[in-house]
Amino acid sequence: MYLFDVQGYDPDRIRAVVAGAMREMGLKPRGRTLVKPNCVAAHPVYFAHAYTRPEGLDGVIAAVRDVGGDAIDELVLGERSGITIPTRMAFHHAGYPAVARKHGIPCRYFEDDRSVEVALKSDGRLRDSIFVPESIADADFLVNCPKFKTHPWTRVTMALKNFIGIQDDAHRLIDHDYMLEEKVADLQEVIRQDLIVIDAVVAGMGRMLTPSPLPLNLIMVGKNPVATDAAGCMILGIDPSEVRHLRFCAERGIGSLSPEGIEFRGDVSLDEARRRAGDVENAMVRVDKFFEGSSITAISGPPPDPSHSDYCWGGCPGAMEEAIDVILQPDARTRCRRMRVVYGDVRGMDLGEQPGETVVFLGDCTRYEGKLFGKRVEIGSTYIPRAEKDPRKAKAKDVFVRMASVYWTMAMTLLRRRRHLVIRGCPVSVAEHVLLLASFGGLKNPYFDYRVVFPFVWNWIRTKARRLMGLITGRSRPRLLDGK
Ligand code: SF4
Repeated sequence: MYLFDVQGYDPDRIRAVVAGAMREMGLKPRGRTLVKPNCVAAHPVYFAHAYTRPEGLDGVIAAVRDVGGDAIDELVLGERSGITIPTRMAFHHAGYPAVARKHGIPCRYFEDDRSVEVALKSDGRLRDSIFVPESIADADFLVNCPKFKTHPWTRVTMALKNFIGIQDDAHRLIDHDYMLEEKVADLQEVIRQDLIVIDAVVAGMGRMLTPSPLPLNLIMVGKNPVATDAAGCMILGIDPSEVRHLRFCAERGIGSLSPEGIEFRGDVSLDEARRRAGDVENAMVRVDKFFEGSSITAISGPPPDPSHSDYCWGGCPGAMEEAIDVILQPDARTRCRRMRVVYGDVRGMDLGEQPGETVVFLGDCTRYEGKLFGKRVEIGSTYIPRAEKDPRKAKAKDVFVRMASVYWTMAMTLLRRRRHLVIRGCPVSVAEHVLLLASFGGLKNPYFDYRVVFPFVWNWIRTKARRLMGLITGRSRPRLLDGK
């Protein structure tokens, strides 16, 4: 595990240190080599610190070529973006196509890939199999290039969590709830990372999509994701065993969490890296606290399995926190029309609704029995237990269908002169929360922003056209890892 000093995003310096570390570790890229950044969302202004910077990828791709040489048959840059943003659009805003052109390699958008079902065997697994994109399943050498960030749902996101968004629309939201960190471990069981290069030149702090910058001037290089992420935690002063997905992966034998089990090399000591990070706040904040002092009052009860957790980290409440950032209005929290959002089982609670407010119950598991604006209301759970959800039968829900559904619910609520509404889903996605804020909250709909709408629709059409071609030719049909 290497810590290198990189002052600013200098591709030549990154190329030199990554190639040197690969040679020392005895790693040689070969066959189908895939470079996977973190591009959950990208924009030089709006999401400036959310994604792996292109200059870093430039250096990494050059280093991979330097060391792999003729042993590489195919080198591609591939990823799947989040919050319904077409990856083509996120790549454009991230500046990745220019880097790919410079190196003469293609960009691969995982939403165009067919899914491959891979069996899981470890004790503690959530399911017996999991779906991953073909590019990941078939890679002979996988280069993982995450962004170093703290995270509001999982404390940190580095090498291990960088794969949580790779699945197709039908599968990515399955188990994206209070079991999210178990799902991270399931993915790790089937993904073999050969080289990890973490972009910590400017780390992202606090939020998933709109983090604050923390210049660490570091590039971390390693080959074991548990070790790199444990080192990242140590830099932040976090005990790695307190990060659940790290602990689960260590328990499954993927790597070691203890400082004694990690050999630090490079030109920056762990103490120096910690000094650069300084005091870092815990990014995990509950939705109730997050919205304190704003026009939105959030109330969260426990999710369906309270013995596991009394809060759904990874599910609907966190999606609301991200949505208010995605609205891209600095004063959105106070400008929003007053609303009360309710998650989980809140039976027996006084919701404290105020005149003029809208009360929104979100999620399949939300339950309430009691008075609301003076009338008795009963809202039952529609939650489907995990064991009854079959990923093989999962269906994708397009963003425009989600949009229509939210607007339909809004229209019905207004027609019936109701002051409360229920939005179902497990989870209710960030995109649906954004639409809720735009419709009931009276905020700007970022999907209709003139800077977003044309590239969004154009890239949505291109993605759908590729999917349609895949369906016609049979290329989109899921397959098992043995090729059937
Ligand atoms: S409905 Fe939402 S809050 Fe409830 S378990 Fe699912 S993701 Fe969590």
